[in-house]
Amino acid sequence: MDLSFVIPCYNEEGNIRPVYEAIRDVFAPSGISYEVVMVNDGSKDGTWKAIRALAEEYPDDALTAVCFSRNFGKEAAILAGLRHTKGDAVCLIDADLQQRPETALTMYRKLRSDPEYDCVAAYQDARKEGPVLKFFKDCFYRLINRLCDIDFIAGASDFRVFRRNMADAILSLPEYHRFSKGIFSWVGFETYYMPYEADERLTGKSKWSFWSLVKYALEGIVGYSTKPLQFATVTGMLLSVIAIVYMVVLVVKTLILGIDVPGYVTTLGFVLLLGGIQLLMLGIIGEYLSKVYVQGKNRPVYIEKEVIERETDGENRE
Ligand code: UDP
Ligand code: MG
Repeated sequence: MDLSFVIPCYNEEGNIRPVYEAIRDVFAPSGISYEVVMVNDGSKDGTWKAIRALAEEYPDDALTAVCFSRNFGKEAAILAGLRHTKGDAVCLIDADLQQRPETALTMYRKLRSDPEYDCVAAYQDARKEGPVLKFFKDCFYRLINRLCDIDFIAGASDFRVFRRNMADAILSLPEYHRFSKGIFSWVGFETYYMPYEADERLTGKSKWSFWSLVKYALEGIVGYSTKPLQFATVTGMLLSVIAIVYMVVLVVKTLILGIDVPGYVTTLGFVLLLGGIQLLMLGIIGEYLSKVYVQGKNRPVYIEKEVIERETDGENRE
């Protein structure tokens, strides 16, 4: 088996058949043997029905379908999909056809022809986004690259083709909080970045709201950097020094000028400011603690309710 596709699907009933057939149209005549692993991430629509129908319609294709017991998120779906792959290379692709199988073919060929690379990742050169979102995303990349020791490439998506060695490396990471962008950089390997242009979603709508992106960004920072904790320590030290100096100033002032009654506003201001800073620091520590707490429970990242695994000879050629 040359290539395994991993497709996370959440409420994609209208896209299942088109994406499967688009991959089939491009890869079946190419002479590349491939399989498709579709993961239904607890969809609330007819996604699983559509996947089952596909499996019935193409009984000779190498198609594996996994159904989660509820929605566990795209990262969990990618992990489950990866665990079911058997190919020498893996392609992660979305279900909504924003990422074209034709591009995947170019990426795969690049990987095949260039042994020095272990991964070919697509990145969006010109992102079709509003200026506000673009601004926040740029800020995020600048911040996370400053905070973390590994590199995060702006615009790089999960749309990538990589070799088995990299897939195994990704699977060897046991963490519960999975942040793909970080995992891809953390495992290393030579990555070739290929520009591509994302299409419009075929049907349905994006699952990302502004706040889910903010949460995702925080997850990335907490997952890949402990600098915010150092920031808490340094801020605490700085404030303590300022407080000591200020106290000395106050004592000296009182000794020279006598007791000074006014200062209510300054005092209140300081109390509020320090209260705020303390809560912020507690929050930062809490973020890390919550990650340790959840990881400590050692729960599985996802639960499979049903798996359809076709016993084929592993070849999907026409
Ligand atoms: N997805 C998923 N679980 C989720 C959210 C999304 O498996 O909880 C899948 C979704 O079906 C799609 C891919 O992840 O195949 C990317 O999602 P989406 O298109 O909403 O993201 P965008 O392209 O807007 O970044
Ligand atoms: Mg999409």
